[in-house]
Amino acid sequence: MPQADYHIHTAWCGHADGTMEEYVEQAIALGLPEMGFSPHLPLEIPIEEKVCLTLEEMDAFLEEFHRLRKAYAAVIPLRLGGEADFAPGTENEIERLKERYGLEYLIGSIHILGDWAFDHPKYIDGFAARPIDRIYSDYFGLVADAAKTGLFDLIGHLDLPKKFGHRPTNGCLPYAERALAAMAAGGVAVEINTAGRDKPVGEFYPSRDILEACQRAGVKLTFGSDSHAPGQVGRYFDEAADLARSAGYTRTLRLNPEREAVDLSGS
Ligand code: ZN
Ligand code: FE
Ligand code: FE
Ligand code: ZN
Repeated sequence: MPQADYHIHTAWCGHADGTMEEYVEQAIALGLPEMGFSPHLPLEIPIEEKVCLTLEEMDAFLEEFHRLRKAYAAVIPLRLGGEADFAPGTENEIERLKERYGLEYLIGSIHILGDWAFDHPKYIDGFAARPIDRIYSDYFGLVADAAKTGLFDLIGHLDLPKKFGHRPTNGCLPYAERALAAMAAGGVAVEINTAGRDKPVGEFYPSRDILEACQRAGVKLTFGSDSHAPGQVGRYFDEAADLARSAGYTRTLRLNPEREAVDLSGS
């Protein structure tokens, strides 16, 4: 059986296509054991275009989620998550959103350094304006901070600054180590985010060396397609499972209420 997909957006985010039901149907067609929606939560971020749901949209999103959860209860378990932009000082706001909407899990993501949305193609010039090593050390410093808040079940796209192909001279690992230790200590999982394969970098997040280091550090593992269209649900998951196994993982974390660890080879 394939893996559960916990990183899924929908048209509600404003920059993705497809109704929630279309994503669910795709997950069923692939035989996924469960799936979770992870809308970009309504938080203030320095981007002009629409990325996050508004508070009003959250209400409508929730209503539709609960309708689908009921309708598909006998077919596939649906989980209610959210992707939160972490920045120091946003902890209380994120916690409030989680409680208010009854979110069952949170993906902590860093898309912004200072006021620079570094993963947005429009702001790619920012890479030329800063030393690459500082970008990675600032970035993984924030990942470590996020892991220490105790708010997040997993970190999204763990080595995101590589998205357009920018890499530090000696690889990411030296910068990632402290973040991985914080994740292991806080029980914060890593996801194999398969969306990276379709970005300029052409590979999953995180890279193999970081995934292996996660495994050695005892960091738990989930899978996410970061879908922004229904056809992307579960993309490259067979390959992702092979990568996980070759990195030494034998189990994957279910974001069900029991937070079960299940066999990677399926259950
Ligand atoms: Zn998005
Ligand atoms: Fe993200
Ligand atoms: Fe996402
Ligand atoms: Zn994302």
